[in-house]
Amino acid sequence: MGLDRVAQETLDAIRARGTHRRMRVLGGAQGPRMRVDGREVWLFAGSNYLDLAGHEEVVEAAARAARDYGCAAGGSRLINGNLDLHEELEEGLAKFFGNEAALAFSTGYMANVGVIPALTGEGDVVVSDALSHASIVDGCRLSKARVRVFRHGDLDDYARVLREARRDFRRVLVAVDGVYSMDGDVAPVAEIVSLAREADAMVLLDDAHGTGTLGRRGRGAAEAAGLPLREVDVHLGTLGKSLGSFGAFVTGSQRLRELLVNTARSFIFSCALAPPQVASALAALRLIEREPWRREALQANAQRLRVGLAAAGLSTAPSTTHIVPVVVGENAPTMALCESLLEQGFYAQGIRHPSVPEGTARLRVTPMATHDAATIDALVAAIAQGMTRAS
Ligand code: PMP
Repeated sequence: MGLDRVAQETLDAIRARGTHRRMRVLGGAQGPRMRVDGREVWLFAGSNYLDLAGHEEVVEAAARAARDYGCAAGGSRLINGNLDLHEELEEGLAKFFGNEAALAFSTGYMANVGVIPALTGEGDVVVSDALSHASIVDGCRLSKARVRVFRHGDLDDYARVLREARRDFRRVLVAVDGVYSMDGDVAPVAEIVSLAREADAMVLLDDAHGTGTLGRRGRGAAEAAGLPLREVDVHLGTLGKSLGSFGAFVTGSQRLRELLVNTARSFIFSCALAPPQVASALAALRLIEREPWRREALQANAQRLRVGLAAAGLSTAPSTTHIVPVVVGENAPTMALCESLLEQGFYAQGIRHPSVPEGTARLRVTPMATHDAATIDALVAAIAQGMTRAS
């Protein structure tokens, strides 16, 4: 069968399920207000939570690095691509998170598909939450380890699955998200780590969305749970969300770093992060340390959004963070609501299977630190009105 027919067959099936996707075209710098498909709207659909991607200092750091180092690292870290800038960023990240060492990856996706196979293989097991991010799932597949899944956020089920895993396998890795990217709830990190310790299991915490946004100092879900990050064997964060740049990192022990440098294939066989990305992430890290108001404003905005929607009779459960879902259910009304909000000047993305389970299509609303209260209230009113029409 030729490519055209293969593509047509698959695309027809996707269309029939109501999950066909297309990319919107955005214009201008990432910020609370952007041009989406030619229309100026308030953006409630991004991960640039702290509004640092276009911050003067972040942009200037990138520009300076481009002038001083050029636009590419020019190779992989183990050949010619390991710049003093990469080492400086990693030292900064290790220090910020109170860990011994850090290692940068090209993306969060690549970090998970590199780290999980570096820690587990045939004969081992990964214990994971039912709603773990796709990159954890794919990392498990690449590792060839067996996978045991516990019910989302259910500690009793986790304890049972962990017990069985310990009994049946040699190495056990627990791999979970810190903040669930489509639901906005936070994993019970302290309990997960403590039970893993008792079972002599390793823990990987993917805190892509908690980094910079949760915890008193922005260290994420573990800090919010009162747990020092040293207690988490592998702590993963991204540079492309609250840090306003691109890429990802892992923090942990020096030995973990050495292991990953020697065995994580997505680290070894891939080009190093470009200098402007590294320098802008470093500048953003300094801002996160210096400007706690961004994190506080983000959480206050998220709270205002959740409280407003609740007052309008709309559930945002189980969210307790800056990722606020409004579940509609079916695909078509979800996407219709998304389009209608765009017409009213708000962009909050409709999310369908396979990003979320079938029948739980939703509007995923992500406020930023720099949205104002009036805009959030106007969005709440528009969603409430749209949901009345959708039901
Ligand atoms: N892990 C989680 C929990 C995520 O939500 C994401 C991004 N949506 C990733 C990893 C992947 O990170 P990146 O976009 O840097 O590949």
